[in-house]
Amino acid sequence: MNRRLVFLLFLGVLLMPPAPVATEPPAVVVLTVKLSLAPPVTLRCRGPVRLYSLPEKVLPLTPPLSAAPWREVHGGTIFHQLTWRVEPVDGRIVLASEQGDLVTTDLPLMLWSADGSGFELNGAVYPGTLVLWPEDGLLFFNEVSLEDYVWGVLGSEAYAGWPLEALKANAVAIRSYTLYSLGRHGCYDLCDTIHCQVYRGLPPEAVFRTAVWTTAGEILCWQGAPINAVYHSSSGGRTRNNEEVWAGTPLPYLRSVEDFDHDGRNYQWPQEYQFSWVELTETLGVAADQELRLVPFFNPAGERLGFWVNSPFTEKQLRNEEFRRLFSLPSANFHLFIQPGKAEITQAVTLTPGTELLFTGKGAGHGVGLSQWGAAALAGRGYSYGQILQHYYGPEVVLRSASGQLRKEKPATQ
Ligand SMILES: [Zn+2]
Repeated sequence: MNRRLVFLLFLGVLLMPPAPVATEPPAVVVLTVKLSLAPPVTLRCRGPVRLYSLPEKVLPLTPPLSAAPWREVHGGTIFHQLTWRVEPVDGRIVLASEQGDLVTTDLPLMLWSADGSGFELNGAVYPGTLVLWPEDGLLFFNEVSLEDYVWGVLGSEAYAGWPLEALKANAVAIRSYTLYSLGRHGCYDLCDTIHCQVYRGLPPEAVFRTAVWTTAGEILCWQGAPINAVYHSSSGGRTRNNEEVWAGTPLPYLRSVEDFDHDGRNYQWPQEYQFSWVELTETLGVAADQELRLVPFFNPAGERLGFWVNSPFTEKQLRNEEFRRLFSLPSANFHLFIQPGKAEITQAVTLTPGTELLFTGKGAGHGVGLSQWGAAALAGRGYSYGQILQHYYGPEVVLRSASGQLRKEKPATQ
């Protein structure tokens, strides 16, 4: 059949009411990841594709996305040999091929990879199913199996040069964190940024796949449920207690332990961070023409947890982790100095307008849970991935294989 004719038929179907007989959507959905792609996006389908749509514009997006009443677009396909430009135009999804073919709809569109080979989005390979949702411009979702997702996250969050046992420990942590976090965003499970876990599609290096497949289905549990297996790049010598970094209930598997990240790439910050008085007061949200008082507060071991920030109109408690976020620091493991003179702030101090502050520090990330560079060092010493996990998450967690059907709901805490 002539290609242009196929597209005429296809467009006709999209513009007509949906077919009365619903076709079951693909049944392999495990989790939904929102992709942070800014249109226009370049799309290539790596194999044959079948298209699904919704009978009406279900807006706003309602959870869960995969439960929407998808119906196959009869005869609907797009030619996978072509490269498509995907973007929103006047509330519609528009796919335009490099040959001038056009597909457009104002309804959500699901692209199912018939042979499982997936898609390329801006050159990155994504497995599973792609959903285009015309809201806030255009939203991209990837519905992906747990193991493929873990594979993608591992490739985005770890280095291929790390020992295999360290990568396996990372894979188990990622898988556990993922199951703990399902539904975190309500209408979808996880985003693809550092807010949840970085996910940039599937990596080409074989070692990531090996690490995932040799630990397939294995998760860390506490009291019968997957744990919140947070991880970070490098703590700077010692990991942190969860409640001291984020407040909340102390968790027995997120205790402060010795780290072995001294030879890691992120052990020492590569630079110091200096802020002017204007930058400082704007960032902290306090008046620039008033004195500012910083009062450190500590845990029973004498480790500083953060500062009280007091000015005539403001009084707030900021933990080290909040300083990291506000000032875009590599980690929450920092020393704070008054400039000029580089006098460290170790007790309450009053700053006058014009003062500058300097941060120096160690590590990268929040410092809780598994340290990735520490895991690499322990693997280099001969630790197995199970031993690495036990070091960072403690003796109370159990490594077990997920049995039976993985549930989409977050398992209940006992
Ligand atoms: Zn997120």
